Amino acid sequence: MNKNSRPNIDRERHGPGTVYLVGAGPGDPGLLTVRGRELLHRCDVVVYDRLAAPCLPSDLDDEVVLHYVGKRADHHAMEQGKINDLLVRLAHEGKAVCRLKGGDPFVFGRGGEEAEQLQREGIPFEVVPGVTAGVAAAAYAGIPVTHRGEAVRVTLVTAHEDPAKPERQVDWRRLGSERDGTVVAYMPVANLDAVAAQMIDGGADPDTPAAMIERGTLPAQRTIVAPLHQLAAQVAAARIKPPALLIVGPTVALHQTLNWYRERPLRGRRVVVTRPADQARRLIATLQELGVTPLVCPAITTAPADPSELEPIGDRLGSYDWIFFTSENGVRYFFGLLAARGLDVRALAQARIATVGSGTAERLAAYHLNADFVPTAFRGEVLLNEFLQRVDASDASDASDASRASRVDNITALRILRVRGDRAPTTLEDGLRDAGAAVDTVLAYHIRSATVRPDVADTLVREGADAVTFTSGSSVAGFEKLVPDHQLHDCAVAVCIGPVTADAAAAAGWRNVVTATVSTVDGLIACVTKMLASLD
Ligand code: SAH
Repeated sequence: MNKNSRPNIDRERHGPGTVYLVGAGPGDPGLLTVRGRELLHRCDVVVYDRLAAPCLPSDLDDEVVLHYVGKRADHHAMEQGKINDLLVRLAHEGKAVCRLKGGDPFVFGRGGEEAEQLQREGIPFEVVPGVTAGVAAAAYAGIPVTHRGEAVRVTLVTAHEDPAKPERQVDWRRLGSERDGTVVAYMPVANLDAVAAQMIDGGADPDTPAAMIERGTLPAQRTIVAPLHQLAAQVAAARIKPPALLIVGPTVALHQTLNWYRERPLRGRRVVVTRPADQARRLIATLQELGVTPLVCPAITTAPADPSELEPIGDRLGSYDWIFFTSENGVRYFFGLLAARGLDVRALAQARIATVGSGTAERLAAYHLNADFVPTAFRGEVLLNEFLQRVDASDASDASDASRASRVDNITALRILRVRGDRAPTTLEDGLRDAGAAVDTVLAYHIRSATVRPDVADTLVREGADAVTFTSGSSVAGFEKLVPDHQLHDCAVAVCIGPVTADAAAAAGWRNVVTATVSTVDGLIACVTKMLASLD
C-alpha cells in the first residue's frame, strides 16, 4: 500500500496526535482484534515490545515507523518511564501512535500507567482491549477457566512478586485456601516453587491439577500438567522459559479430554525466511503449521520501475513472438507497468510465454495466462538450452520443404521480450541474442536491500536459528549484509532452493548446506521440513 491509498486516521486538525493503547492478543496473530488491526494499518507509528512482536502484521505500509522497545540482545528493554516519554513526544509531533502491547493493555501490561501519563499531558488516547494470555492460553490448552459446578471464579494474579518478601501484596496462602476457583498466575516461572508451596501451606490439596503453558497460542506452545506439588520439578526438567502461565484449579483436569490444540511436531524450531513475507506465505504457513517459528528477514525488497520503462518498446509490445519471465516479481511488476499505461494482457497479442519455473507459471495463472514453455530444471542456462532445442525441434517438424530456414535462421526470425529485475544476470538475453534472436529487455523492478525488524534481529542473535532458507544467490548475499554479525554459519543449516544458490551459500561460508531435490518452493518446503525432522 502506498501512502495515498492508506485510509486516514480520524485526526484533530491541531494539537497532539492520538495514542491508541492496543492489545495485541496472546501471540497467535489471528487473535488480534479487528479494531486493533485497522488502527495498525492507519497509524503513523507503532511502539511495540517483545510479547506483541509476533502479532505485528507483516503487511504494514512501509511508511509506518516501527519503534521496538522490548528487550534486545545487547541491552535491556526500554524503561517504562522512557516509553511513556516516547509516547508523549510522538503524540506532540502530531503522530497517530499505536502502542501495541501483548495480551490486553490493562492486564499486567502497565497500560494503566501509560494512560495516566497521557491523561496528565492532555494527549487524547483510546484503549483497544485484547485477548489476555491467561484466558487464551488456557483455552488453547483445553482448560476452561470457569466450569459449571467446578470453578465459579477466576483469579488473574501476578507471580512476579517474590513470595518470600515480607511486603508482598499477593497472599498465596489465601489463594490456596479458596475452593471452586481457578488461579491464573502471570510471570510464574521464577517463583513457581515458592508459589506452589505457599498455596499448599494455605490449604490447597497438593494433588490439585496444575498446568504450566509456555508460549500459549504460538506455534511453539507447550503444556505441562501435573499435581500442584509436582509441577515445579516437571517444569524445571522440561526447561520451561517465559512467557509462560500457571493455572491451578479443578478444571485443569479437563485438559485430558478437551486438549484440542495438538502440539506441533517441530515446535521450538526456528527458521529464517529470507524472502519478503508476502512472497513466502506458503512457506511461512507450512512452517507454522509444524510448530516452527519463522523469522522473516527479507534480504532484498523490490520496488516497481517507473512506468516510462515501457516507452522504448511501446509500439512493439504486440509484436513479440515470445515473452520470457524468469521470476514471480517480473510477472507481478510487468503487469503493473502495463496497467500504469492503461493497458492489459491484450496488449501482448499472440505472444507465447516462457518461464523459468512453476512459481512463475503459477503467478502467470493469476492473470489467466498459461506458460507455453517451462524448462525441466529451473535454472537460467537450462531454460536457454532447452528453449533453443525446442525451436530447433519445432523447426524440424514444421519443415515441409527442404528450403526452410535452418535453426539459426529460424531463431533469427524470433522477436523476444525478456522481463527481469535490474540486478538479474544477462546470460539469458545474451544467449538468445548470440543464437540470433532480436531481444528487448524490460527492467520491470528494482532490487533494494531490506532492513530487518529489530525484534527479529534480536531473536536471531539471542536465540539463533536451526535453518536459513535461501531462494537465490542474491538472497544469500543480502542476508550476509543484513545480519553481518550472526553466528549461524557453523550451527545452522543453509537450505537452498537449487544448486546455484547452494554454491553461493557455500562460498559465503555456510558449512552445512542442503539443496532441495526439486527447485521449487514446494521442494524447498519438503527439504527444510525433512532436515528439521532429522535433528534431535
Ligand atoms: N498484558 C499481557 C500480560 C503481560 S505480563 C496479557 O494480557 O496477556 C507478561 C506475562 O504474561 C508473561 O510473563 C506470561 O506470564 C504471560 N504471557 C503473555 N503471553 C503469553 C503467552 N503467549 N503464553 C504464556 N504466557 C503468556
